[in-house]
Amino acid sequence: MTPAIAFDRIPRDRLPALLQRMPKAELHIHIEGSLEPELIFALAQRNGLTLAYPSVEALRAAYAFTDLQSFLDIYYAGASVLLHEQDFFDMAWAYFQKAAADHVVHAELFFDPQTHTERGVDIGVVIRGLHRACQQAQAELGVSASLILCFLRHLSEEAAFDTLEAALPYRELFIGVGLDSSEVGHPPEKFARVFAKCRALGLHVVAHAGEEGPPAYIHAALDVLQVERIDHGVRSVEDPALMQRLAANRVPLTVCPLSNVKLCVYRTMADHQLPALLSAGLCAMVNSDDPAYFGGYMNDNFLATFDGLPQLGAREAWQLAANSFEASFVPAAQKAVWQAELDRVFADAAA
Ligand SMILES: [Zn+2]
Repeated sequence: MTPAIAFDRIPRDRLPALLQRMPKAELHIHIEGSLEPELIFALAQRNGLTLAYPSVEALRAAYAFTDLQSFLDIYYAGASVLLHEQDFFDMAWAYFQKAAADHVVHAELFFDPQTHTERGVDIGVVIRGLHRACQQAQAELGVSASLILCFLRHLSEEAAFDTLEAALPYRELFIGVGLDSSEVGHPPEKFARVFAKCRALGLHVVAHAGEEGPPAYIHAALDVLQVERIDHGVRSVEDPALMQRLAANRVPLTVCPLSNVKLCVYRTMADHQLPALLSAGLCAMVNSDDPAYFGGYMNDNFLATFDGLPQLGAREAWQLAANSFEASFVPAAQKAVWQAELDRVFADAAA
């Protein structure tokens, strides 16, 4: 419910500062996608590896994608420098410092164990390094954080089962599972059995759907995988019945505006459908997806979104942050604390 905040009294020129200052949660961040070229080079040097790019600048210049697959090719190349627990810690710690500066008070991090286990890295090395960074983020930055293990959908369901089995000794260190990587041609149904097992284990379940794939993939993620959130889901606007279903059930959509523009899901930010999702009553919010590759972290996304979509104002800024807390996998009492802080920031701005 919208509190009695006089959103109309907040002038548009004060929005950028408010977007930066407001507390928010990030629910769609692939931690391997936060690897900056500088850190990739530093880790390569520390681990005695030679990269296919001669310099930081050359690597950054290669970030000119045309679609999801061309991005994924360089994403996996960048992740190849991660070998030791400290490497995974350093990667996540770099992200948490940026998140804290953007007033992200809670983050649920996706990680792709198969990207690492296929290279011979033990899954325990991955999870322990990331978990230690989560603990330090809470202790030193006041950022609450948890981990969501993602299965790579271009690999088989058997490979997903193997990954789940290998991760089970660390069951208490992650809260759920997701489904990412190349969407088209790999529908949710492919992972029906492994998701059923994850649900039986009490894990939260989410899935990427409706980014490049059709609305039918969103229906399947809900019906077959029984996910609690849809990652991306922007193509739901093509299906009015699906929009009604998502709104009625408050199914969260973890939208990633800069990612969508960078991967050419939309030609420009002005074409983005986030305003339509919000006005239809969907629980959509803003996330960074792969911030090192897509042009920015949380506040970069908020600023670019509100800059490119002038129909969004203070009310929508508040709604997006409120939706991020509503959609998070934390106890209701904790959500209420963050929501009260959000309301206070907006009430002060409108005073
Ligand atoms: Zn994603």
